[in-house]
Amino acid sequence: MKIAVLAGDGIGREVTAEAVKVLRAAVGRTRPMELVEAPIGQAGVDLAGDPLPPATLQAARDADAILFGSVGIPGDEAIPYGMRPGASLLRLRKDLDLFANFRPAFLFPELVAASTLKREVVEGLDLMILRELTGDLYFGEPRGIAPNAAGAMEGFNTMRYSEPEIERIAHVAFRAARGRRSKVCSVDKANVLETMQLWRTVVTRVGREYPDVELRHLFVDAAVMLLMKEPKSFDVMVMGNVFGDILSDAAAMLTGSIGMLPSASLGAGRKGLYEPVHGSAPDIAGRDIANPLAAILSAAMMLRHSFDDEATAARIHGAVGRVLREGLRTADIHGPGTTQVGTRTMGDAVVEAL
Ligand code: ATP
Ligand code: MG
Repeated sequence: MKIAVLAGDGIGREVTAEAVKVLRAAVGRTRPMELVEAPIGQAGVDLAGDPLPPATLQAARDADAILFGSVGIPGDEAIPYGMRPGASLLRLRKDLDLFANFRPAFLFPELVAASTLKREVVEGLDLMILRELTGDLYFGEPRGIAPNAAGAMEGFNTMRYSEPEIERIAHVAFRAARGRRSKVCSVDKANVLETMQLWRTVVTRVGREYPDVELRHLFVDAAVMLLMKEPKSFDVMVMGNVFGDILSDAAAMLTGSIGMLPSASLGAGRKGLYEPVHGSAPDIAGRDIANPLAAILSAAMMLRHSFDDEATAARIHGAVGRVLREGLRTADIHGPGTTQVGTRTMGDAVVEAL
């Protein structure tokens, strides 16, 4: 097991340290595990003058899996793209062709009270948002800001998906559904956008190869409404890059705290990049208050997907559940009758529970 550990910036470093601790404890001596640490984001700029230093990229290419923290500093968006700490992750995903972003939204029973929604709406919530990562408005050409025929400045982006790109993400969705509750909801805007018409046509065709999986299509606006109203009616939701960006954050809030949610970015093989859904959170960095559970659960996803080790992944989940049952909470999920602890204490408690 060769794992590149790219902790990055802000709380990324703090939570990744806890995830590594848990990983070492959980995997222990059962398998040889090599961890290769490398800087990325502002840490890459500080140490090597590049948000994605060549040595870091090489370490990621050489590894079986990547444990990623978060990148970004305040004012990030004002820095030119190539030197922008926050852009290093996009470059890395693109280089490794990690096109499928899995974001599970599930709720530990102990945290039902932390959700913004009513108990009966979220209790038992367990859905998987699958977001395509390499196409859509984010990468489509032409793009730019230029004067139009009337001489006014005009901004433009292009929503683009090719048939093979849609096919491969659709297959990932149907296969994922088979391991869950066998339902796929494809989210598009086929009533307005040609790109999305093709999306719907291709997903429907791929769906015929999976007759055991129920397929339903929703327009993105209706999907958001239903996600808020009846989130438990969904199993796997698959969508393009832009809609996935928005819906996955919305789904995250159903579960109470962004500090609880892991994610995986996968390609065609077993290799993947695993990271908490949250960012570098400069506002709380360096204070030992960040919730490390999203990072710890990301390590569990890594064991499951890249190393086929469901048993150890399940043990980590169990340990997190146990710590929550004991009443330990970081500030973001703290409430009446629970004990507030810091980042490191939370990590130690998970190790203890293991
Ligand atoms: P990015 O641009 O990298 O996504 P961001 O500042 O926009 O960064 P996040 O870093 O995800 O967004 O953080 C949003 C807010 O949520 C933070 O200001 C922080 O207060 C809170 N937050 C994020 N992650 C955690 C965590 N692990 N534990 C506690 N609070 C968190
Ligand atoms: Mg953010």
